[in-house]
Amino acid sequence: MHRYIADNIYKAKKENAIINKFIREKLPRTNKKIAIIGAGPAGLTAAFYLARLGHSVTVYEAAPEAGGILRYGIPQYRLPKEVLAKEIGFILRLGVKIVCKRKIDTDGLKKLAAGFDAVFVATGAYKNMSLGIPGEGLKGVWSGTKFLEKIAAGDKVSLGKKTVIIGAGNVAVDAARTAMRLGSEVTIVYRRDKLDMPANKEEIHFFTRLPRLSSATRNKTLRT
Ligand SMILES: Cc1cc2nc3c(=O)[nH]c(=O)nc-3n(C[C@H](O)[C@H](O)[C@H](O)COP(=O)(O)OP(=O)(O)OC[C@H]3O[C@@H](n4cnc5c(N)ncnc54)[C@H](O)[C@@H]3O)c2cc1C
Repeated sequence: MHRYIADNIYKAKKENAIINKFIREKLPRTNKKIAIIGAGPAGLTAAFYLARLGHSVTVYEAAPEAGGILRYGIPQYRLPKEVLAKEIGFILRLGVKIVCKRKIDTDGLKKLAAGFDAVFVATGAYKNMSLGIPGEGLKGVWSGTKFLEKIAAGDKVSLGKKTVIIGAGNVAVDAARTAMRLGSEVTIVYRRDKLDMPANKEEIHFFTRLPRLSSATRNKTLRT
């Protein structure tokens, strides 16, 4: 929904008017300092609302750039980096400071707690699930999130001709669609029925209807 609204606002070139309205309507300074650890959607959202309430907000991020999974997980074809940059730009224009490449450890947290009125920990909580079977450490075997992170960071990943994706959630389908974009022939292996696949239905439909298309149409579809 946010993406749909944002796309239409960009199309109508109304984003500056909207962000200027937010800046004008910021509440008076409270002189309260708030530190946020993590610049993923949770940290950025908190920063956006806290800045509008008149607080002085600094976000500390371990990665080289802000965005969390939005930048280092969700593929470019679903969330273009230019859109993410615009969204983060709006938050910066509200006066939020974002300090990247700053991983906060226990001592760092103590310092923030002493120097700020409040600290919001927004470090994310995802965890890769392993299959618990032999061979998981072999060359060419990746976790879905690690694979997507490498692609998002611009690292070269060579998959070879055929890729098997184990699992059928949204991360699995993101990885499958990304692997197809890299030119690999992809098969998803899932322990239950196709109808039970937990990924969004649109994504499954997109993926499963591809082989029936001509190669020219398929390549065109993959680019969009
Ligand atoms: C491949 C993939 C696709 C997804 N697709 C969707 C989708 O389409 N729709 C949807 O709603 N959700 C989706 N999700 C889930 C969504 O991305 C997460 O729910 C969301 O990112 C959680 O936000 P967060 O801010 O809590 O954590 P994160 O996005 O993980 O951000 C946490 C941030 O904290 C930073 N950090 C961690 N530790 C420290 C530290 N000690 N010091 C400083 N910084 C630190 C990290 O570097 C990171 O930038 C997807 C997830 C994945 C993996």
